[in-house]
Amino acid sequence: MRNERSAKAEAGAWVGIIGNLLLAVMKGIVGWYSGSKALLADAFHSASDIAGSLAVLVGIRAARIPPDKDHPYGHGKAESIAAIVVSILLVFVGFEIARSSILAIFSGVHEAPKGYAVLAIIISIIVKEAMFQYKYRLGRKLGSQALIANAWEHRSDVYSSLAALVGVGGALVGEWQHVPWLYYLDPLAGLAVAVLVLRMGYRLVVEAIHNTMDHVLHDEDSKELIDAVLSVNGVIEVDELRAREHGHYVIVDVKLSVNPRISVLEGHRIGKRVKQHLMNQFTHVSDVFIHVNPFDPGFPYKSNHHMLDDDHPTLLQ
Ligand SMILES: [Zn+2]
Ligand SMILES: [Zn+2]
Repeated sequence: MRNERSAKAEAGAWVGIIGNLLLAVMKGIVGWYSGSKALLADAFHSASDIAGSLAVLVGIRAARIPPDKDHPYGHGKAESIAAIVVSILLVFVGFEIARSSILAIFSGVHEAPKGYAVLAIIISIIVKEAMFQYKYRLGRKLGSQALIANAWEHRSDVYSSLAALVGVGGALVGEWQHVPWLYYLDPLAGLAVAVLVLRMGYRLVVEAIHNTMDHVLHDEDSKELIDAVLSVNGVIEVDELRAREHGHYVIVDVKLSVNPRISVLEGHRIGKRVKQHLMNQFTHVSDVFIHVNPFDPGFPYKSNHHMLDDDHPTLLQ
């Protein structure tokens, strides 16, 4: 079932890679020949998205590697690490686009881009929105952070292309109406694209770092887990329960108390039942570590002269 999940996530990543490749090539060529800074910025943006989708793909593949000795918790976190790589790339590309747009503004703009740049932008908007819809739904269905992050990326790309549309359209109106300062709208739109890329990159960095930390679940979430442990026959008390999110999955550490007089074998069986119960009831729980304690009803619970012949006979014989 997990393999099916990663196969679908992988298909989603490939749609992003191929879509962005076609868009980057189209916008790059049209941006260059039409002389539009905004469209070129948008093309670079799509090119950086290819790298982003590749990072998602690597993450999904690594997450599928089963747990091993060095990584007993599995490799689920690779997906979050892939999301961090995407974000850093976005920040880098954002600065680069901003720099080249500002340079263009200061060196002066003397003509509007060619009209066919508009057509390339409209195609880009339609393709990106379709990619967003597809990936967002798939990401939600599979519960894949990396795919959802990547889907929002496509949504930000729609805004990026809309900004380019305003820049190129404004410059064309300037040419038509003989208003030369409107030519500056094109590199200004390039700058706006850079800001959008930077903002999205920053948001993804914050989110991905949060998800990469082993963070303990909130109390209301662990309450359900504690109740489930207590419902298992033989468990007297839950001494401690820690649930850690690990990439997409949750790992549970439980310390539970059982009757101190039962055998090691019985205690072990109770622990096993707890583990099976948790993993059956909560599909996102990928592993459970159990520590069995003898139940301590508090001191003094027996008079001292009973201790020697009565308490823990197997230990004292
Ligand atoms: Zn490993
Ligand atoms: Zn993008």
